[in-house]
Amino acid sequence: MATSDCIFCKIVEGEIPSTKVYEDEHAIAFQDLYPAAPVHILVIPKKHIASLDAATKEDQERLGHLLLTVQRVAREQGLDQKGYRVVNNMGDDGGQTVHHIHFHLLGGRSLTWPPG
Ligand code: 5GP
Ligand code: ZN
Repeated sequence: MATSDCIFCKIVEGEIPSTKVYEDEHAIAFQDLYPAAPVHILVIPKKHIASLDAATKEDQERLGHLLLTVQRVAREQGLDQKGYRVVNNMGDDGGQTVHHIHFHLLGGRSLTWPPG
């Protein structure tokens, strides 16, 4: 998928509105439009990477930063004491619907396991 067709690239550019909760040079975090838990935030790199499978060695530092951004946002949301879940869906069987890599940060209730 071309970057110009990507809704998350449009959110990065501000062409599609979102409720941002965090932003820095390399990452943004915003509220999921269809929350599956009391806290449901998406953490994405500003760079378009289609999926975890599409990431390369060049993205190593960016992905590490992304995960620490999840940690930071989770603390800011007050989730660190009771816990939370971090999800990355990859490909069709993984349930990926937006082809710009993202971590779901889910919390605010006791989450069941295994997922469906
Ligand atoms: P995936 O299914 O690819 O793992 O997750 C994509 C997520 O993006 C879904 O949870 C969906 O609710 C969310 N989403 C899809 N379109 C938009 C949008 O335009 N804005 C926001 N904030 N979230 C979106
Ligand atoms: Zn994108």
